[in-house]
Amino acid sequence: MTQTLSISDRQRLQLTPLDLPTRLLLGPGPSNAHPAVLQAMSTSPLGHLDPAFLALMDEIQSLLRYVWQTENPLTIAISGTGSAAMEATLANAVEPGDVVLVGVKGYFGYRLVDMAGRYGADVRTITKPWGQVFSLEELRTALETHRPAILALVHAETSTGARQPLEGVGELCREFGCLLLVDTVTSLGGVPIFLDEWGVDLAYSCSQKGLGCSPGASPFTVSPRAMEKIQQRKTKIANWYLDSSLLGKYWGSVGGASRNENRVYHHTAPINLYYGLREALRLIADEGLASCWQRHQKNVEYLWEQLEDLGLSLHVDREFRLPTLTTVCIPDGVDGKAIAHQLLTEHNIEVGGGLGELAGKVWRVGLMGYNSRTESVDRLIEALQKVLPR
Ligand code: PLP
Repeated sequence: MTQTLSISDRQRLQLTPLDLPTRLLLGPGPSNAHPAVLQAMSTSPLGHLDPAFLALMDEIQSLLRYVWQTENPLTIAISGTGSAAMEATLANAVEPGDVVLVGVKGYFGYRLVDMAGRYGADVRTITKPWGQVFSLEELRTALETHRPAILALVHAETSTGARQPLEGVGELCREFGCLLLVDTVTSLGGVPIFLDEWGVDLAYSCSQKGLGCSPGASPFTVSPRAMEKIQQRKTKIANWYLDSSLLGKYWGSVGGASRNENRVYHHTAPINLYYGLREALRLIADEGLASCWQRHQKNVEYLWEQLEDLGLSLHVDREFRLPTLTTVCIPDGVDGKAIAHQLLTEHNIEVGGGLGELAGKVWRVGLMGYNSRTESVDRLIEALQKVLPR
């Protein structure tokens, strides 16, 4: 006899359609997506093997090569956030026992350490106080000491607002026979990057910051040199979802197979996010990379000037400050959390708080992608004038 089960209504909320506040997202990310990106994302989905969708994926690959300034054949988006693309670099390139040297100078360096360890790496670290960066000499000494298979650095450390100079690091890595892996999550689209010129072998980013899209479709690229290491692996890539050889077959970027008939299903792509990413990249190509980088620099300098006029000081030395993320010192006696809460609830502006060594000491202000505009700065400064104690 079949038992009659009754449906429980305990979790059955009676809701109205979505009605959320509109915020200006000036924290460490996400940033507001460009309105044209949001519009593109509302287009009706195609199938993930539809020739028209495959053509769109080809456009994404090309435009990602443009914004990164690389010719790497394997340059794709990972269906996931920046951390998924971060994990893709390590899952593919690290074999158990490989020495991976991580330059830690903020929160995301530690995330690389954690992830590399999970893939069996013999992880070594060099560290710097949060807000500082490594010199070429320091990196050379560390490479001499540790002789790693991979050196991993965060180009734009979102937890500190510092830009790690990368000129010369790729050459150094070649001298020591190691691969260079770089986190460009808070730099892509907003900070000058020349992946091929700088000899970067593995890089990843996100969609929700400098590219001005929503989170969830994250750029990932592998140089031919890194591809050789991956192809010579003795052990299977331990992560099925992020296996570059499987992903490459879907994206048509393995074996030069851009022909649609060779492309095979791997996972159901988040179709509408890819529409958004394609539109975000199209907008950057339309603006031109040089203009886009200059816009970020011009607007952040305006922000710095305005913040200093309010009597606030900035955490990072000017030479190494990011155009995308500024760490602002919270003045003595000011409750940083309360100010951020007031900005959010009274002015609909989000700014971030400090992490780790900088917890309670700084606010993090992002001007990225679509939000890198003078109007964003003006709105924030006007609100700060109201909420900061005199
Ligand atoms: N790396 C850096 C430098 C980041 O700033 C972030 C996120 O802000 C990540 C990695 C992780 O990206 P996500 O939060 O999109 O997973």
